[in-house]
Amino acid sequence: MNGSFSSVARQSGRKKVFCWISLCCLLSACGSKDSSATKASSSISCAESLAQTGAGSTGSGYIFNIDPMVSSGNQSLAPNSTQLDSYRSRVNLERLGGRGVLEGSYVEVRNGLSCSEGFGASDSRNQFLYPHNDQRFQEVMGYYYGDDYRHKLDQASSLTPAQPVVIIANCSEQDNAYYSRQVDSSGQVIDYVCLGYSGYTTGAYYADDATVITHELQHATTVHSYSGLYDLNQLWFDEAGSMNEAISDFMALMYEAPSVPGSFDLKLFSRWALGTFMATSADRGARRCPAYDSTSGSDCGTYSGSATPVFSALNNRVSYSYPDGLGWPYPASFTSVKTAFTNYSSQEEIHNASSIVTGSLWEIYSALKSNHAGDHTTAYNLTVKLVTQALATLPMPISSLDRSPVTFIKFGQALISRASAMNYSPGDQSSISTVLTQRGLSGANQLSAGWASVGTGSSGTPGVRVLDSPSTLKSWLGYMGFASTAIVSQSGATATNGQLDPGEVVTVWFDVLNSNPYTAGGVLVDVVSPDTDVSFLDGNYNFGYISATHAQVRYSKVNGSNIVTALNDDPNITVTTKNTGAGNSYFKTNKKFDSSWYTTLWMKVSPTAAHNKTVNLHVTFTPSNGPAATVDFPVVIH
Ligand SMILES: [Zn+2]
Repeated sequence: MNGSFSSVARQSGRKKVFCWISLCCLLSACGSKDSSATKASSSISCAESLAQTGAGSTGSGYIFNIDPMVSSGNQSLAPNSTQLDSYRSRVNLERLGGRGVLEGSYVEVRNGLSCSEGFGASDSRNQFLYPHNDQRFQEVMGYYYGDDYRHKLDQASSLTPAQPVVIIANCSEQDNAYYSRQVDSSGQVIDYVCLGYSGYTTGAYYADDATVITHELQHATTVHSYSGLYDLNQLWFDEAGSMNEAISDFMALMYEAPSVPGSFDLKLFSRWALGTFMATSADRGARRCPAYDSTSGSDCGTYSGSATPVFSALNNRVSYSYPDGLGWPYPASFTSVKTAFTNYSSQEEIHNASSIVTGSLWEIYSALKSNHAGDHTTAYNLTVKLVTQALATLPMPISSLDRSPVTFIKFGQALISRASAMNYSPGDQSSISTVLTQRGLSGANQLSAGWASVGTGSSGTPGVRVLDSPSTLKSWLGYMGFASTAIVSQSGATATNGQLDPGEVVTVWFDVLNSNPYTAGGVLVDVVSPDTDVSFLDGNYNFGYISATHAQVRYSKVNGSNIVTALNDDPNITVTTKNTGAGNSYFKTNKKFDSSWYTTLWMKVSPTAAHNKTVNLHVTFTPSNGPAATVDFPVVIH
């Protein structure tokens, strides 16, 4: 590709991209394109013509070693520090294409803020030496880490795609970064990474954090390893999407591990960008329990060796083990199990639901490293090959049966079976199996038949929640990328009564009750309407759309009775109780289930539907750890 990049067909705004900040799509500032001048603190001249070819394949540039905290050794460094330039290091740049710009065999880096995605940095001698407040500094970060990361994947015989990935640093996304696989007008696949700027901290950039760069680049390898055609993340929430995020978080941590001093938390993901740019940290990581767990300071206490995971509201314990450890936020700011359960509205968001897989992979890498005399490179190569090969064996979406068939447990099974097929040593296979068993991803307790029934539901709509508020629905459609929200046309007194009124567009959730001791994980919710008076909006609204009377979505988990007991184990019944109020139905597993559209189905009531008519929606719930159960949910047209 030459300097012109305008021929690439961007995917529509409704296409999900791998936005990497948990919460980002729910924050009012998220994703907005900011036209203010604060994002660019210096102007640059873009590389307009690239006639020269003799610049050679090596060069030099300034970077941060991983991030400014690691570079400086100061874990309290703030992103508005005036000393950042003093923490730069000069490194060799390799595998350059010879045109004096940052294009090479593995990545090419372009500037989206000032050069319309043309090349910014250019030098006929390949000397790319810039201060931090020059946008070309972030371009060099993108090149150095992108090139080195993909080179190491190549050395592990695990590089996909073979062609260079396009990195836009900086791109015009505020407080976000993403990867997407696109097809240009000639049908060529373009792998595209966008690294945005901070709206919270002026002058801070996501490309200043190598963890972010490598996270996004791993998405390219993950999705290509899985399929040249299908994306993993098929629904707003599904375990495939969470697994994809977990692999990116883990691979970034494993890649940078040899460069980070032991005084730092090696399991903390993006200490710089996620940790410092925003008002409250949005940490993720590979630890066995959240930072507010009472044993987090001792590596999560008894959750080690052969011990079983521990959950307790009274003792403030959560273990990142499947399925009960799903969806617990990571940062210390939540302070307690009760606070996290009660206040957090993004339980099922894919980044937040990723911790179990991130931690499992970290422990596999750590065990393999220990098995091989502490050698990072051996463990890195074994782990990269294992993950890449396991991805290639996972099931593809089948339109009428399961729109989102990849689960954490299937990934766990794939890791174990590939380790055997690739003749990993008996000791390594045993370590892999032990980690996955401890984390609940192998040999987990299975639910028994008939586990599901109709739960309480909401006031006025037994068994279900119907949201018909036009202001909320239109706001959600805006976040989902719709230019027009006219499809939501209800108004007047019946428009906010939480009922299915004729002519309304609504969103619906099912309060499935789980009568088993064990929690149902990764629940595929397959809904058939026997009556066209109550139908589904199309695939632009419901990613799990199959037909006007058939659609699917996934719920992250539905509590069983054991975890409900553990989350309400405080004998103190006064107002200071630590009990969470958790119950064994979907609505009492995620109390904020209706605060976003992630797990909802968009439905339409016919304008001519008769009042007081009952429609029995046939709902089949298939957990990753048990048999399917079909339950009828009667809904009444108001
Ligand atoms: Zn991501």
